[in-house]
Amino acid sequence: MEFVITAGPTREFIDPVRFLSNPSTGKMGFAVARAAAQRGHKVTLISGPVSLRTPEGVERIDVVSAREMFAAACSAVSAGCVFVATAAVADWRVAEYSERKMKKTDMSSTLNLVRNPDILKSIEGCVKIGFAAETHDVMENAAKKCREKNLSMIVANDVTEKGAGFGADTNRVVFLYPDGSKVSLKKMSKLAVARRIVRACEGICS
Ligand code: C5P
Repeated sequence: MEFVITAGPTREFIDPVRFLSNPSTGKMGFAVARAAAQRGHKVTLISGPVSLRTPEGVERIDVVSAREMFAAACSAVSAGCVFVATAAVADWRVAEYSERKMKKTDMSSTLNLVRNPDILKSIEGCVKIGFAAETHDVMENAAKKCREKNLSMIVANDVTEKGAGFGADTNRVVFLYPDGSKVSLKKMSKLAVARRIVRACEGICS
């Protein structure tokens, strides 16, 4: 099978020295890439700025912004592939990027923002797996995303839980399917979660 995986944060530059982003480290996405490659699948990993080594057997494409990640994802996917969106894509970017460093004294206290593309929602023709990193109403929010983004499965987790969010080496997740069925996993390493995700994808595609 062919896997295309997004990972890490995106950066939305305001000017050459400032950006909007989030604390994603890419660990979950890199673990999925590693697990898929170890199962003999062809893997393309599209990564935002992270400091992780590329897993063996994985083709990596580095990007910075959500729009770059979107363009890379559109060129990497092919009919029937599995698209796993672990990236924490910034929802907004500034309406007008300043080529020159903005001076504190010239900057207004308000930024004009525009929405970034929803990569996972826009991709078509693949089996799509999403993530829902939530702080509250975890299952309700995950079910809504699963429906709205037309996913084959969503991996839900509560990022406020210790050892389950950004930067941790472990995660505790629930797999939620479009028919409402769920599989709750105990807390385990991100690589172990990744192996379960890859097996679930193999099941969906079989
Ligand atoms: O941000 P949100 O909670 O809606 O993210 C849910 C899923 O959608 C995640 O899998 C994330 O990678 C993906 N996503 C995306 N492009 C965005 C926002 C989210 O691919 N602009």
